[in-house]
Amino acid sequence: MGLLIRFAHQWVAGETMDDAVQVALEANRRGIHALVNHLGEHYHEKAPVEATVQEYLRLVAKLRAADVDGDVSIKPTQFGIFIDKEYALSQIVPVMDATKAWGRIFWVDMEAASTVADTIWIYEDLARRYDRVGLCLQANIRRTGADLERLLPAGARIRLVKGAYKETPDVAFTSRAEIDREYLQHLDTLFANGKHFAVASHDGRMIAHALELSQQHPDVPFEFAMLQGVRDPLKAELVSQGHQVTEYIPYGPTWLPYFTRRLRERPRNILTMVRSFISG
Ligand SMILES: Cc1cc2nc3c(=O)[nH]c(=O)nc-3n(C[C@H](O)[C@H](O)[C@H](O)COP(=O)(O)OP(=O)(O)OC[C@H]3O[C@@H](n4cnc5c(N)ncnc54)[C@H](O)[C@@H]3O)c2cc1C
Repeated sequence: MGLLIRFAHQWVAGETMDDAVQVALEANRRGIHALVNHLGEHYHEKAPVEATVQEYLRLVAKLRAADVDGDVSIKPTQFGIFIDKEYALSQIVPVMDATKAWGRIFWVDMEAASTVADTIWIYEDLARRYDRVGLCLQANIRRTGADLERLLPAGARIRLVKGAYKETPDVAFTSRAEIDREYLQHLDTLFANGKHFAVASHDGRMIAHALELSQQHPDVPFEFAMLQGVRDPLKAELVSQGHQVTEYIPYGPTWLPYFTRRLRERPRNILTMVRSFISG
């Protein structure tokens, strides 16, 4: 287990809030904006949800006290969306209010397809309360095109990702070619109709297309967003070209599901992990 934790550390700041603050400050020193997430998901009981609320309130206070250049991002299943969407909203609002008092963006992650409708319902309620709320949308999900069409005219702040969850063909595109095609099309939509959004990908093709579009739409503000521990040289290059780059920094003791998603995305990572175990 110790070796696994060591390997996981490339993608996870550590188990404690202090670890996350240190990694966020370190990102800031490299000219990178931090996006901090407390790991945890799929809660069906109120106790872990309410502990999560307290954790995030402490996190916002700590990031603020440390003067971190950053925002926070939450997962709806961490806040009780499986219990009831109204209950989840009631738990999220205090954290959003604390983020609002800090003047930062409050981001909502998107999880598996079964949660998309309720997550968008929560997002829309939050967006009526605070104009700096962001929502992640996934290119692999079939309904995303229609969601963008509906949400962008209302000024939605979107983070576009490919989608990290294994889905079925009735709700999602499942081949890499289809997902990439969707991502590229959604980028066109965002640059044409979006006001502020995050291009969240490590894929050189997606990034090159965003760079091309940004030349055609020089006044459209957007940022690149990547995960902690992935493509650091590319992050530095984009920063040196004057782009805003954000790093998603997760922390907490329940890092295993997040770690597993990262391994699955890039089978080469499994090989690297095995090699690092053998060499100690
Ligand atoms: C900021 C951020 C927030 C996210 N939030 C969510 C969310 O809320 N919900 C959700 O479902 N998903 C989220 N994701 C994950 C996302 O959905 C993808 O699973 C993940 O980003 C991998 O997709 P990709 O676009 O990087 O492309 P991939 O198709 O995984 O990778 C494409 C290419 O990128 C390059 N690459 C990837 N990793 C590396 C590496 N380590 N070193 C060098 N090259 C590499 C390789 O060339 C690879 O072929 C988020 C991702 C980011 C960056």
